[in-house]
Amino acid sequence: MLGTVLYGPGDVRFEDREEPRIIEPTDAIIRLPATCVCGSDLWPYRGLQPLSGPTPMGHEYCGFVEEVGSAVRSVKPGQFVVGSFATSDNTCPHCQFGYHSSCMRREFMLRAQAPYLRVPLADGTLVPTPGIPSDDLVPSLLATSDVLGTGWFAADAANVKPGGTVAVVGDGAVGLLGVLSAKLMGAERIIVMSRHASRQKLALEFGATDIVTERGEDGVARIKELTKGVGADSVLECVGSQQAMMQAIQATRPGGSVGYVGVPHEMNLDGAQLFFTHVRLHGGPAPVRRYLPHLIELVLDGKINPGKVFDLELPLSQVAEAYKAMDERRAIKALLRP
Ligand SMILES: [Zn+2]
Repeated sequence: MLGTVLYGPGDVRFEDREEPRIIEPTDAIIRLPATCVCGSDLWPYRGLQPLSGPTPMGHEYCGFVEEVGSAVRSVKPGQFVVGSFATSDNTCPHCQFGYHSSCMRREFMLRAQAPYLRVPLADGTLVPTPGIPSDDLVPSLLATSDVLGTGWFAADAANVKPGGTVAVVGDGAVGLLGVLSAKLMGAERIIVMSRHASRQKLALEFGATDIVTERGEDGVARIKELTKGVGADSVLECVGSQQAMMQAIQATRPGGSVGYVGVPHEMNLDGAQLFFTHVRLHGGPAPVRRYLPHLIELVLDGKINPGKVFDLELPLSQVAEAYKAMDERRAIKALLRP
């Protein structure tokens, strides 16, 4: 089997890898009709996150169950399933509280940029769709696996409420789907910080009402101006940099909430500064599994089309070009067909 391996900054190879097989009785093997590159894959690709050696990449997935281990009960060969980047047993106390990405038996997924994938804890991790979805729904179902689930968590963690004012920091796939999530949760005003025409267009399509092109202090000032000097009720931080986090905190009104889902890189918060903002912070790796049944239903009912974030489609063999296109911001998100 050929799969994707990141060797170092800018060095993505599509090379021979061992075919996945059942190791634990709770495993499933799935065949992936499509896979994709995540914005978070760009951190190690850009050399901003160290690698311990050649790393098989990919953590967003949906597909057909090929084989299950002897202990798997709720998932059967032939079904179409969606999973998350974090495995979960769906039974431990953290899962019961809805924090599946902190499951006591959690493993972070890798190796999904390939034709086949082993998924541990199949019963708790995978959500089967009712029946086999048509192929045109695959991109949107794949989006629920991470980018939509993460955008949804950002909005949920930022306490988005009907009639509320929301600001979104970050115009990548997660930020854009954070806009979609906030819209579905009833936000009245959704301000997006973006400088890229194609991303602005999609943000407006997903429900954004205002675009702010300024960054840093100027961006915060612009959001304050748009909210009569008050700040937003809810701010979604979908980048993970110091600047993005400070923009998010400063754009939030006292008593408002920041939902942060960008994986932090060299981020340091000043305690005293935080103290006087009166802002709630909640975030982390999104517990996508909690939201999957609802998000899958929205896609299958045709109520949302989060697959629109894929603006580049390539054969999986051209995965290196997919990374390059996203790194150079020529693509929002690349879909890969094995
Ligand atoms: Zn658990």
